[in-house]
Amino acid sequence: MKIICVGRNYPKHIKELVNQRPESPVIFIKPDTSLIQKNNPFFIPDFSRLINYELELLVKINRIGKYIQPKFAFKYYREIGLGIDFTARDIQQQLKEKGLPWEKAKGFDGSALIGEWFDKSSFEDINKLDFHLLKNSVVTQSGNSSQMIWKIDELISEISKFFTLKIGDIIFTGTPEGVGDVQEDDLLEGYLMNKKAFSIKIK
Ligand code: ZN
Repeated sequence: MKIICVGRNYPKHIKELVNQRPESPVIFIKPDTSLIQKNNPFFIPDFSRLINYELELLVKINRIGKYIQPKFAFKYYREIGLGIDFTARDIQQQLKEKGLPWEKAKGFDGSALIGEWFDKSSFEDINKLDFHLLKNSVVTQSGNSSQMIWKIDELISEISKFFTLKIGDIIFTGTPEGVGDVQEDDLLEGYLMNKKAFSIKIK
């Protein structure tokens, strides 16, 4: 399986990182080794001094497809989830300045947290989903899928122009504003609407 991530999909997050609004979605891939195994903590890697959390809505692909039209995209996923795109922000900054690929900052071992999956039919409208992150029991980031520049179906269409989507592939749809750092012993908990999606300790 592969993990396809979308960058710069929320206007306020683009602002907070002082980035340009892209003309088409920024896409990058995390390898399957970036996945955090169930119930494991996140280990701060020794190569970074600034790890950020990015809370993101996830989509799990359940049908193979390429050149999927937006109007048919809903047929390619049944489950929605919530996860964290852990980012070594200091490394990413260095790579960005040199115009180099982001993989070392975004695709390292343990950089992808994937929480529980929920049937999309359990939500009234997937383009109006509230989600939030608690850091040590305090809300530290929140968003709503209505704020996405490219909605889920548009993302699936765009991604599938470049990458064949296969069963089990996961899309990270981008982070809203409010990204921040993690420290040893922090506890992160994610909620999609009123459903608890994950809980993870930082080590
Ligand atoms: Zn992200």
